[in-house]
Amino acid sequence: MSRKPVRPTTGGSRGPAPFGTDDSGCFVLHVDMDAFFASVEVLDRPELAGRPVIVGGPDRGVVSAATYEARAFGVRSAMPIATARALCPQGVFLPGRHERYREISRAVMEVLRSVTDTVEQLSVDEAFLDVRGAVRRLGPPLTIGAHVRALIRSATSLAASVGIAGTKHVAKIASGAAKPDGLLLVPVAATTDFLHPLPVGALWGVGEKTADVLRRHGWETVGDVARASIADLERALGRSAGPRLHALALGADPREVQRDRAQEKSIGGERTFFDPVADRGELDRVVLEQSHAGAARLRAAGLVASVVSIKVRYPDFRTITRRKTLPAATNLAKDVATAARELLADVEITREGLRLLGVRLEGLEGAEQGLQLALDADPDASRAEETLDAVRERFGRGALAPAALLDRRRGRSRGEEPRPPVVPE
Ligand SMILES: [Mg+2]
Repeated sequence: MSRKPVRPTTGGSRGPAPFGTDDSGCFVLHVDMDAFFASVEVLDRPELAGRPVIVGGPDRGVVSAATYEARAFGVRSAMPIATARALCPQGVFLPGRHERYREISRAVMEVLRSVTDTVEQLSVDEAFLDVRGAVRRLGPPLTIGAHVRALIRSATSLAASVGIAGTKHVAKIASGAAKPDGLLLVPVAATTDFLHPLPVGALWGVGEKTADVLRRHGWETVGDVARASIADLERALGRSAGPRLHALALGADPREVQRDRAQEKSIGGERTFFDPVADRGELDRVVLEQSHAGAARLRAAGLVASVVSIKVRYPDFRTITRRKTLPAATNLAKDVATAARELLADVEITREGLRLLGVRLEGLEGAEQGLQLALDADPDASRAEETLDAVRERFGRGALAPAALLDRRRGRSRGEEPRPPVVPE
């Protein structure tokens, strides 16, 4: 990324850990492939090893990825290809092969999910892991970090850098500082020692524009932002961004690693009836309620579903499921409910009624163009993440209304409860 922190890149795996080895409370790992697209090109064409390789264009006209040899010439991600050519005329310029990158991305993510199921994929080549649940099995976070790097190397022959910290924000910056091919632990107690000397652009979410604003106010480093008054930051950046940035500069980041919703094979709920229900009108209302809950969860997670299924259980515990593929993927309750009701209409309902009724959404994929953008865009640019966040926020907000409506429903389905919408701060 162009705003890489200028920090010694001594990796814990290769040399002394610059901030010590106390990894207690450091359960967040940020794993980021080094110069991903460019590294894949070198992997597939070994004769390019050691040469300045630049992936990008011609469609976007900007650099998507550059090897460290190319970066030595000043070539950076998101730079116009023309500028890169001027800086590095001897560079090997290649168009992207996104299908191939996705293939390797899948292998990387599979490795990460073998370590923990709490994986939040940020883009094609980076992810957060919460390793709390893996410590007993695999050892402390530092050991897991080294293990992840080794696993990725053996699965793909590529280098991944790992940042380990107590928060997502610090782990993300740490992986950048660990590059190339390194690991950096930022112990909880060393958080501000690590953050404060960094330039403001190192703060996650601070793009060129925000960095310019901060510098104009005389805030050059993260420490400057931490020492600034919240009132001044609010005046400079607004009432939402100002305090948020201040908190980040102090090392506070309440965001948890969000297990990828797309990894869930389905979203849904079911209702077990105290007394079996035979009335179709009543069952239709249950279907509607569950369709709303499921659709709200889809929207909150920024997903759409292409398959709707229902599950019914009879008093004798015979259970059947029926599924239907929709003409187009959706996150709207009315589409889900229509399909689910059609499925229910074809199910036999005897006088004994049903003991359980559930609606489930399958064939999940990202709803937003943002997800596509994140795959196509430069994996090192935070712009894709910001776009994704903005879209998520939009979907999250949209999901609040139906969720609020649903809170008024009678009773609650047993089994899976609908999860609260994901609304980024
Ligand atoms: Mg990367």
